[in-house]
Amino acid sequence: MEKVRHTPRNVSVDVAVIGAGPAGATASAALAGAGLKVALLHRDGVRAGAAEETLVPAARRVLERSGALECVEKLGFHGRALHASVWSEPVLRVRDEREQERGFQVERRAFDAALRERATQAGAQLVEVGQVGIDDRGHEVRARTADAGEFVFEARAIIVATGRATPDSLARLATVVELPATLALSTTLSVQHALAQTNAIEAVREGWLWWLPLADGRVELTLFCDREEERSVGREALWAAALGGAVGPARDVQARVERGTLATARLRASSAPVLVCGDASCALDPLSSQGLETALASAQHAAHCARSVVEGRSELGFAALERRAWDARLWYAHRRQTVEFLRSERRFVDAPFWRARQALESTPPH
Ligand SMILES: Cc1cc2nc3c(=O)[nH]c(=O)nc-3n(C[C@H](O)[C@H](O)[C@H](O)COP(=O)(O)OP(=O)(O)OC[C@H]3O[C@@H](n4cnc5c(N)ncnc54)[C@H](O)[C@@H]3O)c2cc1C
Repeated sequence: MEKVRHTPRNVSVDVAVIGAGPAGATASAALAGAGLKVALLHRDGVRAGAAEETLVPAARRVLERSGALECVEKLGFHGRALHASVWSEPVLRVRDEREQERGFQVERRAFDAALRERATQAGAQLVEVGQVGIDDRGHEVRARTADAGEFVFEARAIIVATGRATPDSLARLATVVELPATLALSTTLSVQHALAQTNAIEAVREGWLWWLPLADGRVELTLFCDREEERSVGREALWAAALGGAVGPARDVQARVERGTLATARLRASSAPVLVCGDASCALDPLSSQGLETALASAQHAAHCARSVVEGRSELGFAALERRAWDARLWYAHRRQTVEFLRSERRFVDAPFWRARQALESTPPH
């Protein structure tokens, strides 16, 4: 039987934004709010982060500037009062943070949905898509949708905000520099524990542990470990060793790993005339708790670049270069902070996780 071919439908917009996570939704809200015609292409379920994520108190400025603070406050996403750490000595230190020092803790599904709603309220058109492809000139997105066949979005500028898992092929991406490969191994626990409401990080020989109390009363426990060591030792053995060596709340836990995801800090650059933002280009080490903040800030910058193109103040190729330079400055500044913080833990200098990271120069030439 002859296959039915759908003729692609052409839609003309000022900006097509691929990916409706925090970066894509924020860029779309900024552009639609400025009166531009925006298509926000959304595909669910390709995200690499955690169910709930924290932002440092200083993120308030970026949340405010990007308009996301309103969503955070409406949803009541405030950080925990109690923070604990075991770092550089085997002692658990618990702090009761003043209200301004608590930062934020967002439930990602609800946060992302609220940001998307903001974008559509500002006038962006949200389109559910399957496969997408970009033409070489950076002016067309070909998108396959589950129900209506194919669309071609003709745009003056394209923003790629598809997160950490973006394949290089989508936007001719290449890795510029990355930190040693890091894997996040997690499990969700129902626990009766004195520290069940305390957000805690702990350095162990195998990496570092993150004890994150969730809004529903459970705790997400994550081990950030070295990918190579996990391959040679085995996932469960590495996990058991990390929990066995802990002195903080993870110490008494008997649980298996439920999920594993790559969490390597990586800077990628695109050689295509597109504006890449968020984790797709500038993925930070989760130790910083600044991934979301950076995604929002880079999205605002991407929106600024796209607007310059649409309004004829900049060429697409130049705007793409400006976007890349912004990411590179930020990524290297984060790298320096992360490396310095990792170096402050001196108990495990011979262990693979720490050896690989402490051997890094603080400021490599770039
Ligand atoms: C284990 C772990 C823990 C973390 N913890 C924190 C934390 O506590 N605090 C913090 O600030 N950051 C944290 N981060 C980082 C944070 O998750 C990211 O920085 C943030 O999600 C980046 O936002 P984004 O919009 O760039 O990408 P994403 O959140 O990944 O959004 C990308 C969106 O694009 C969609 N998409 C993907 N492919 C396509 C496609 N082809 N077409 C259309 N849509 C597509 C995805 O479904 C998703 O909706 C953590 C990361 C990891 C890995």
